[in-house]
Formats: sequence, C-alpha cells, structure tokens
Amino acid sequence: MNSAAPPRLFSLQGRRGLVLGIANEESIATGCARAFAACGATLGATCLNEKARPFAAAVTSALPCEFLVPCDVHQPGALESVFAEIQQRWGRLDFLLHSIAFAPAPDLHGRVIDSSAEGFALAMDISCHSFLRACRLAAPLMPQGGTLLSVTYLGSERVVPNYNIMGPVKAALESAVRYAAAELGPQGIRVHAISPGPIATRAAGGIAHFDNLLTAAMRESPARRLATIEDCGGLAAFLVSDAAQMLTGTIIPVDGGQHLLA
Ligand code: NAD
Repeated sequence: MNSAAPPRLFSLQGRRGLVLGIANEESIATGCARAFAACGATLGATCLNEKARPFAAAVTSALPCEFLVPCDVHQPGALESVFAEIQQRWGRLDFLLHSIAFAPAPDLHGRVIDSSAEGFALAMDISCHSFLRACRLAAPLMPQGGTLLSVTYLGSERVVPNYNIMGPVKAALESAVRYAAAELGPQGIRVHAISPGPIATRAAGGIAHFDNLLTAAMRESPARRLATIEDCGGLAAFLVSDAAQMLTGTIIPVDGGQHLLA
C-alpha cells in the first residue's frame, strides 16, 4: 500500500520546501514529500521529537531532504527555531506543508459538547493555530511569493461519526486558510488546504471505528477506491507549482468525490 511512485507532472526544480508532519511511511506528509521531491524540489522536514526521528528519517533519507529537525509545535519557540534554521541555510522558502493534527484522547472520543476547555484549546493550538504561526514565520522568507498548505477533512463541514472535536477544529483551520490567503495574497503567497478522504495513518488510528470510514469510502465514493498518500502528493505538488499560480484560499477534496454524497 502507498508504494506507487508519485506522478511527475509539474516541475519544482530549484524550489525549496518545508514539510511538517512526517511520522512514518504512511503519513500524508510522506506522500506529499515524495511528490515534491519527484518534481525536483529540495526539502527540509520536521518530526515531533527525538523519539520520532528514526521513523521520519527512514522517509527523508531517501529524499533530497537537507535537514530533519524535531519540532513540537506546541512548545514555545519551536517553530521559530525551524524558521531560523531555514533563514540561515537557504535564506528563503518557496513552499510549506503543515500536515499536523492532535486532540487528547478523552476529548476526541467524547461528545463535542463534553470536550474540556483545555483539550479543545490544545487541539486548536496544535492542529490550527500552529498553521497560522507557520504562515507568519514563512511569509518573510517568501519575498518572491510562495505557497502554504495544510491538511483538513470533510468532518469540518459534515457530522462524521466519531470525528467529534476534530470537526470544529478543522472548520477553524479551513477558515484560517481563507483569511491567511486574503492577508498574504498581495505578497504573492497562496494558501490552501487539501482535504483527503480517509487514509489509514497513525493519526487516523486515534479515531474510533475508523475502519467504518474506510469501508464507506471504498464502497460509496464515486471513484470506488480509497484516496492514497500518493493522490495527496499529486495535488500538493500541483498546488505549490506555477501551474496553480491563480489559485488561492481553496479547500480541495482529494477523496474520489466522496464529498459530493448526501
Ligand atoms: P500521521 O500520524 O502520519 O501525521 C500526523 C502528524 O502530526 C505526525 O507526524 C505527528 O507527529 C504530528 N503532530 C502531532 N502533534 C504534534 C505537535 N505537537 N507538534 C508537531 N507535530 C505534531 O497522520 P496523517 O493522517 O498523515 O495526518 C496528517 C494530517 O492529515 C492531519 O492534519 C490530519 O488531520 C489530516 N487528515 C488525515 C486524514 C486521514 O484519514 N488520515 C484525512 C484527512 C485529513
């Protein structure tokens, strides 16, 4: 699974991108990083912490990835250090992928109305506000323009069983994408979120009965198959390429049409 080569559709030769959120071979960020690299980009990447590094390194070592640094986005100053590293190494950045989400299990598994203020705030900080912080830090490194991507899910706008607290968090993320696109557009910086259908990743394993979402997507989506991390990579590479220069502020489903269904 997820082993097919990403499509080589758009040149990202000479482009430099930062990928946040590679946990392992199955991560959506992995599919995107491979697609960016296949299109010619040079990358830098972050992983959650030192414990996570070997698993992320197994992915990045096979790519033109110049650095892999730990970055827990919830820790004050962590994102700032990563951008300081980019400033020092490259002096500029062309694109960024934020593929990070977290919610504490008790809040994720309960009713939305029962979520704790602390759990909700933590989920919002890691899954949404960290994207805004990354946008703010990336913008000065993009004097010639650039692209900032995050990853969302249909549970933002529909009630998806067991998606729970992540629904409102992803709704906030999508709104944040639109505001950031409006604010940074005049600087030539484009902002999007890709919205994959369900994919069996480590984060997805935290959602109760996730198998039911996979089964439903396979059976009911117009494409009659699951989205893969390679599908995500193809879309992400297109969005950061010059082919997508007049697109900004979009939430693009990569779900075989599942979002069309009632
Ligand atoms: P994943 O577990 O591979 O990736 C999640 C990443 O978030 C991991 O790398 C993890 O280390 C990182 N993370 C969590 N807390 C962090 C923190 N405090 N600081 C830094 N990094 C942190 O799972 P994935 O499914 O590839 O998730 C990537 C994104 O895709 C998430 O935003 C998720 O909501 C979204 N998404 C997933 C699916 C799906 O079905 N898998 C569908 C739509 C959207």
